[in-house]
Amino acid sequence: MADTNALRPVLDRIDRELPRHRSALESLIRIPSVSAPGFPAAEVRRSAEAVAAMLSKIGLRHVRLLQIHDSHPYVVAEWLEAADAPTVLLYAHHDVQPPGHIERWTSDPFVPVERAGRLYGRGSSDDKAGAVIHAAAIDAWLGAEGTIPCNVKVLIEGEEEIGSGHLSAFLERHGDELRADVIVLADAGNWSVGRPALTYMLRGLTDLLVRVRALAAPQHSGMFGGVLPDPALALSKMLASLVDERGAIAVPGLCDDVRPPTDAERARLASLPFDEPSFRRAAGLVGSARLIGNPERSLFERLWMQPAITILGIDSHPIAGSSNQILAEAAARVSLRLAPGQDPRRCQQVLADHLRRVAPWGLEVEVDLSHEAAPAWVCEPTGPAFDAAEAALTTAFGVPPVYMGVGGSIPFVGPFAAAFGGAPALLTGPSDPGSRIHSEDESLQLDDWHHHCHAEAILLTEIAERMGKKLVKG
Ligand SMILES: [Zn+2]
Repeated sequence: MADTNALRPVLDRIDRELPRHRSALESLIRIPSVSAPGFPAAEVRRSAEAVAAMLSKIGLRHVRLLQIHDSHPYVVAEWLEAADAPTVLLYAHHDVQPPGHIERWTSDPFVPVERAGRLYGRGSSDDKAGAVIHAAAIDAWLGAEGTIPCNVKVLIEGEEEIGSGHLSAFLERHGDELRADVIVLADAGNWSVGRPALTYMLRGLTDLLVRVRALAAPQHSGMFGGVLPDPALALSKMLASLVDERGAIAVPGLCDDVRPPTDAERARLASLPFDEPSFRRAAGLVGSARLIGNPERSLFERLWMQPAITILGIDSHPIAGSSNQILAEAAARVSLRLAPGQDPRRCQQVLADHLRRVAPWGLEVEVDLSHEAAPAWVCEPTGPAFDAAEAALTTAFGVPPVYMGVGGSIPFVGPFAAAFGGAPALLTGPSDPGSRIHSEDESLQLDDWHHHCHAEAILLTEIAERMGKKLVKG
């Protein structure tokens, strides 16, 4: 384990420079780098340029923006002067989710504001804080010691929040220059405030669009109601058939390829503390609502190792301006989170076939399956890289990390780890269950963010010590 006294100058530099890192984070939050279609791509480019400027300023070399076709820009940088030491790829993303309902934010989503130890703003946690953690750790080493114990490559993506659509093309073109012995991703979260975590499983993700058509044009609901089929009702019946009365998936065959937990996974899941009241509170669940799913599976198994269906959006007529009409058509965007073992394309097809089969009254059904599909990612969280991460997080936070899964998806992890010959991927990050990432009032717990800056600086030396000399270079 690294000698903390020897690390003092490095950690002191983080403390001393924290106001500068904080203002770098705040400047990034002020740029509305929403990658979703319909938002200005120029803002995502502006945030890429701001990230590139931040990385140049701390002494990284060969800082560049990369694009594949018309993708949002990736920011890439490196420092490769640690001779035979291992090479670490540090990942984060600079794009953000749309702000959602602006009126539900307590303060402007793109104006960072501190309240009760938390910094509010879109991207404060997910994932601009992650990009600045990488910068703070590198700055600490180069500023205090003039060197870094590992070779470092940095990749800050610009389209994570829209499913990393250009990832495989990017990997094909730039995979070699980014090759590393270990990947560190600052895009996951803590178990709770003050308690860090290492995430070793992520669900996969896909979605589809289903459109139901009944009429050439809307018709009078009084003249025709009771005889003509209502596509909004038809779609509702189809969507309702996706789950049973417990809320568990009821699509025949969809769960056939779910891999059951191994004994080691089962034991890790069982060892995690679960406190339902605080879980409900963090989720903002209304008092009368119950948790859903098959109660024979633990909550963590349902969240991380089982698929889940969510209706992301429904198009019929908005209530405002609606009138006495039977609509011509209705549509829904259906998201599917995939469990370990599941084949994304097979699952998409099974879901599409089911929706066609249950469509009532002979209505026309169209399913668009062209959307991205990424499988789940799971690793066995053992070996020198995980030992290094556990030691670094324990030193920085004063408590050991929790080994956890996340029900969400980071499409980057699986393909990169595989392309680098199964390189270990260490997923940490500064959010916590109260961070409301992707929602209104997203926030960052500032003390935990500070601890993560320390942890990553320590991690760089722990990796050098525990992973030894490596072959991967430039
Ligand atoms: Zn993220």
